[in-house]
Amino acid sequence: MPLVLYDTWSRAVRPFKPIQPDHVGLYCCGPTVYDHAHIGNLRTYVFEDVLRRVLMLNGYPVQHVVNITDVGHLVSDADDGEDKMEKGSRRTGESAWAIAERYTEAFLIDWRALNLLEPSVWCRATDHIADQVAFIVTLERAGYTYQTADGVYFDTSKQDDYGFLARLDHEGLQAGKRVALGEKRRVTDFALWKFSAADSRRQMEWDSPWGRGFPGWHIECSAMSARYLGSWFDIHCGGEDHIAVHHSNEIAQTQAAHGTRLANFWMHGHFLTLDATKMSKAGGDFLRLQTLVDRGVDPLAYRYLCLTAHYRSSLRFNWDALEAARVALDRLRNVYASWPTGGTADERFVARFNAEVNQDLNLPRALAVLWDLVRSDLPPATRRATVDSFDSVLGLRLPDWQPDKRDIPADIAALAEQRVKARANSDWAQADRLRDTLRALGWQIEDGERGVRLTRMSKE
Ligand code: AMP
Ligand code: ZN
Repeated sequence: MPLVLYDTWSRAVRPFKPIQPDHVGLYCCGPTVYDHAHIGNLRTYVFEDVLRRVLMLNGYPVQHVVNITDVGHLVSDADDGEDKMEKGSRRTGESAWAIAERYTEAFLIDWRALNLLEPSVWCRATDHIADQVAFIVTLERAGYTYQTADGVYFDTSKQDDYGFLARLDHEGLQAGKRVALGEKRRVTDFALWKFSAADSRRQMEWDSPWGRGFPGWHIECSAMSARYLGSWFDIHCGGEDHIAVHHSNEIAQTQAAHGTRLANFWMHGHFLTLDATKMSKAGGDFLRLQTLVDRGVDPLAYRYLCLTAHYRSSLRFNWDALEAARVALDRLRNVYASWPTGGTADERFVARFNAEVNQDLNLPRALAVLWDLVRSDLPPATRRATVDSFDSVLGLRLPDWQPDKRDIPADIAALAEQRVKARANSDWAQADRLRDTLRALGWQIEDGERGVRLTRMSKE
């Protein structure tokens, strides 16, 4: 079953073929680091991680780029208002630079806790100011910009198909516009460079051919994706909120400068909602991964919850759903740990699972295949090897899981301890006897890189 993916640009599921034979270029819009990521943001990164794993499953090496927005993302899409970083700085009293550092660190902790694969490149907007300035110069030379008292703007009237990604209704937008335009000519025009106020210094500002200031938000993604992936690459991702403004503007810029729509596939994760309202950082009241951890929930249970919904459906968060995910993951871990290693994956189940994930990442159905396998009468070692293959996509770190030490009876723990000592003394015969005793008592002991692991053997 070849991989097919939904492309927002064509509004269709299309067969995926890499542009270059040797790798897939994947760019994912990353966090704006003025505050913690909320679990809605993290849902989008889980979707992107699954996409990357499925690409790898299909044998494609992935060049995965994620940006860190640490300047230029304004509080409102209308290009007026404050930069989110400076706003964060006012809120906490720290410098904008310190805030960017702190929330980037916090973000990476969440990233790793969710077992998201490390991108090939993390790139910060503030490390790529020269690239952004050069990009704007190209746009200016090509006649796509105009200057006002507060910045340099992209002139969207120069492109007939501006906003195609979002199927924007230009007449409707112009007629119904209620937003203050400021000095912009059109509601869809957007800032490429904003000037610092003449009478004050900003914390983050740079010189440019147009004067001291800072880049608009959208230009960083066009500039950094071009640097790391070229201006025509395979897949560009983000949350669904990016379709109408951010991604439409990235496409407009790249179209104007390089003549491409940037990516062959545009993929968007739908929102995680809380009681039918979208979760937003700007709203102030949001759930972090740490909030779940404080309630005793393993971050991977949240990952499991994300896998239960298709990325193109919204996922309504509530604590009962999370608890159900936790219970399911717990059951899976326990049964998996009870199965012996050394088997080979069952090809029919692997083919069924791969067909589901290749069908536009249908993870809910892939999970159904997983549970069919768990309940099947295949030998336990076969089931374990098959789940190992699934876990390359699910990313639940099943082989790393250790049962809670409190679940191991004292006499069993004591026997395991004696065996560790026997091995340390190279008394292999005694170590083997102890392993057999443990097995007779229903416990399997394995020696791994991080010490021994004890698991209760399944009765099946
Ligand atoms: P931000 O840090 O606001 O730039 O957003 C980071 C990523 O999270 C982007 O891809 C957004 O589209 C996405 N996102 C924002 N809110 C949600 C939400 N409630 N559910 C899922 N994804 C979201
Ligand atoms: Zn972006």
